Amino acid sequence: MAYRAQYQEAKVVAEPLVDVAPGRCPANRGPIAVIGAGWSGLAAAWQLARAGRQVVLIEAASNPGGRARTLSLDGASLDNGQHILVGACRQVLAQMQSVGVNPSDVLEPLPFGLHMRELVPDHEPRLRAMAPHSTRPWHLATALYRFLDGEKRSSRLAALLGVIRMLNGSLPHDRPVLEWLRHTRQTPGAIRQLWDPLCLAVMNTPTATASARLFRNVLRQTLLGTEQDARLLIPTRSLGELFPDPALASLRAAGADVRMSTRLVRIDRIGPSVFGLLLSNGERLRARQVILATTPRSAERLLPRSMALDSARGALSALGARSICTVYLHYATPLTGLRPLTGLLNQHGQWLVPRALSGEPHWLAVVISAAETHPEPDAEPRWRRVARELAATFPKLGMPDRARVICERFATFDARTGIDDLRPNVRTPMPGVYLAGDYCVRGLPSTLEAAVQGGLQAAAACLADTEGEESRSLRAGANF
Ligand SMILES: Cc1cc2nc3c(=O)[nH]c(=O)nc-3n(C[C@H](O)[C@H](O)[C@H](O)COP(=O)(O)OP(=O)(O)OC[C@H]3O[C@@H](n4cnc5c(N)ncnc54)[C@H](O)[C@@H]3O)c2cc1C
Repeated sequence: MAYRAQYQEAKVVAEPLVDVAPGRCPANRGPIAVIGAGWSGLAAAWQLARAGRQVVLIEAASNPGGRARTLSLDGASLDNGQHILVGACRQVLAQMQSVGVNPSDVLEPLPFGLHMRELVPDHEPRLRAMAPHSTRPWHLATALYRFLDGEKRSSRLAALLGVIRMLNGSLPHDRPVLEWLRHTRQTPGAIRQLWDPLCLAVMNTPTATASARLFRNVLRQTLLGTEQDARLLIPTRSLGELFPDPALASLRAAGADVRMSTRLVRIDRIGPSVFGLLLSNGERLRARQVILATTPRSAERLLPRSMALDSARGALSALGARSICTVYLHYATPLTGLRPLTGLLNQHGQWLVPRALSGEPHWLAVVISAAETHPEPDAEPRWRRVARELAATFPKLGMPDRARVICERFATFDARTGIDDLRPNVRTPMPGVYLAGDYCVRGLPSTLEAAVQGGLQAAAACLADTEGEESRSLRAGANF
């Protein structure tokens, strides 16, 4: 109840407000504003539009997709970062289908497995493969046993038993992944060659600080589900085509009011279920509910001024951030014979994805997760080092003729130990204001699946609250 009294602090906007898309809202239902056309905001807006609500979608950038968007670089259609999904990303796949995209037309499924190339000074690069026939426990165990080739038999067996405990045992308290791995008898070799790169790829946080709870959840969802859940899905089209562009087209077709290249500057609460939105073009809109589907940093700034929202602001700032750099290398001749996904050990780059699958055969993408932890600040030394190490790993490759480096400083939140307890809920303490994003969904790291689930949860909360409010008002004979 305390926060209700604090509403009174909200500033009243004196300027006249216009209704969003006047005349198009059913008499008893106001518009819902969704701020941000990343995967979360698009999922939220689309869910609301499908439920028959009038939606206004406001996005600062000229293209949708947010942290997973298409870029045009040097005439090629590339992405702001190489993205990989797994079959367990069920909500992402369902949302694609709902906007008319058949996942099998835009994603290449690979059986679960990891192929790692290790650069060993003065030796031939070593290949390490963890490639089970299936994700049945026996196949996984055999593949792991082979992966640990060269270690003592007793250590390999102990590591195997440890993995069974990791997947099936309890984890009453969160702890750093590294501590958990040591506790479950993973050998230094298994940690360096398998768990470190996997944890970085999944969580964008090193094992020394990453949350074992989150990591374990992802492993369980991927490996203990169906064979399909464990598949790695590599995009065969640019990210925009997977969901953002068709979602935007579906929203427009459903009558949503879409404002691209328009930034939300401020939200003022001007009464119960009435919010005033100030846009970067000076326009003012009125909305009944607002879903902030921006980055956590933007959401922290945009939450209406009220002490009631201090806890939500605190939760948003506690999320922290980690960066990802993607090094795109262009070669004069089309590249053939490379696996769709290769792990790189002992190198600055961590994962290699040839872009031939997505129609750009001259380009390679090399991912550097938690890039802030590497002392390689500038683009040029970064790509030159990556290219040199790749040429040493794949001698036929040679050196690229040009390169691009895209670093996203705020790529993901910091998936450190205990992070789940700090994450904000989609419902804020101020009725009518919701948060949506990859950071809202407990149990998942910063991923497209978390973003979509966050958007769907915010839309569901918004709809449930409106329906509750409407039926209360109808009972009281109020006229909306
Ligand atoms: C390089 C990179 C690689 C990644 N790799 C993977 C991967 O392999 N697999 C995976 O699942 N995930 C991956 N991720 C994570 C994934 O991209 C994110 O979790 C997801 O895109 C977050 O979506 P979102 O909608 O929550 O937020 P965002 O995408 O950040 O969307 C927020 C939107 O709000 C807009 N906005 C902000 N402020 C305002 C304002 N004031 N007014 C209007 N609009 C505003 C922004 O422009 C943006 O479009 C990767 C991320 C990066 C950066």
